[in-house]
Amino acid sequence: MTKIGFYGEFGGQHVDEALKPSLEELTEFYYKYKDDSDFYKEFEYHLHTFGGRPTPLYYAKNLTEKLGGGKIFLKREDLNHLGAHKLNNTIGQILLAQKMGKQEIVAETGAGQHGVATAAVSAKFGFNCTIFMGALDAKKQPLNVFRMELLGAKVIKVESGNQTLNDAVNEALSYWVENLENTHYLLGSCVGPHPYPTIVRDYQSVIGREAKVQINELEGKNPDHIVACVGGGSNAIGLFSAFIDNSEVKIHGVEAGGKSLTKGDHAATLTQGEPGMLHGAYTYYLKGEGDAPHDTHSISSGLDYPGVGPEHSHLKASGRASYVAVTDQEALEAYRDLAFCEGIVPALESSHALAYLNKLAPNTDKDELIIVNLSGRGDKDVEAVAKHTGL
Ligand SMILES: *Cc1c(COP(=O)(O)O)cnc(C)c1O
Repeated sequence: MTKIGFYGEFGGQHVDEALKPSLEELTEFYYKYKDDSDFYKEFEYHLHTFGGRPTPLYYAKNLTEKLGGGKIFLKREDLNHLGAHKLNNTIGQILLAQKMGKQEIVAETGAGQHGVATAAVSAKFGFNCTIFMGALDAKKQPLNVFRMELLGAKVIKVESGNQTLNDAVNEALSYWVENLENTHYLLGSCVGPHPYPTIVRDYQSVIGREAKVQINELEGKNPDHIVACVGGGSNAIGLFSAFIDNSEVKIHGVEAGGKSLTKGDHAATLTQGEPGMLHGAYTYYLKGEGDAPHDTHSISSGLDYPGVGPEHSHLKASGRASYVAVTDQEALEAYRDLAFCEGIVPALESSHALAYLNKLAPNTDKDELIIVNLSGRGDKDVEAVAKHTGL
């Protein structure tokens, strides 16, 4: 990191003056508790008893044999309470909100996974919770809307713009500006202004720390390849962070290539976008008219976002990680393949990372090790997949 809040030239805190005091307060509390062992003990206690951590590292023997290359391991974030990695970050941030003396939580959500995780920790820790969700996403994920309401959250469906995650972020930020005093904005990915990318990375880094210990216990060495899907980039950075300094480990981020690489048909930010200012940070994003974010498409709502975390922009620019895109169709096939092959139904987001294995694994030697982050489970996607594949 060159300057605090920057990853290389990316990141920063490009926001309205009105937000700065709240971001400063958050930064102050985050650094105050960053190295506080009592805070982390409490964090780990809730990750364990509420979340079910540590999640296993699963040897996907059948998939390994099918693809005929290196040994494939799945980091089972799908086994977290509520079915995705999102919970790690929400537990960390709600503990921070408690320390700051806040009573209200506001958040945005794409597929609904972050909204559900936020609603759940708000219920558990006694916060009022308001969730902004794009109206189109809400239509795609009615069960998650119901879950959030069941958990006591107020869900506001955003009718502006594309009616997806980008618009939900804008609305949640405006709401926050109007309610700064008692409200914590619980951002769901490693995006937005400093300190969010750093905070979310740190609370998700438990994924990589566990995976590193687990692969060394199982195989006596670090993996040769690590793979994760990239929406905003939080599950990916959670896995990658533990291995960034191990230069022998090759890092692969997989984006949503959607229907085609025509603008508007995909959400492949790092492979197709360009640097600029989005949601308070300098980072890669998909530019449309007048530098506004372009409409995006992905079969998975969780990847349907025109931006990406600034640390990923830096990992791309520095060449430390490589980013690729796979299509909706490839992700759908990977979804079915994992179900057939291993008896595990992956989230459509995670299916993008799995789809890339079809290209990566056959080109690796049998003694190489590959870890894929299985960021979530696919129950929420069964209906969408059935509709697309006629299953
Ligand atoms: C939200 C979500 C993602 C995408 O978000 P990241 O911040 O890129 O991790 C990926 N997988 C699942 C299961 C999700 O719920």
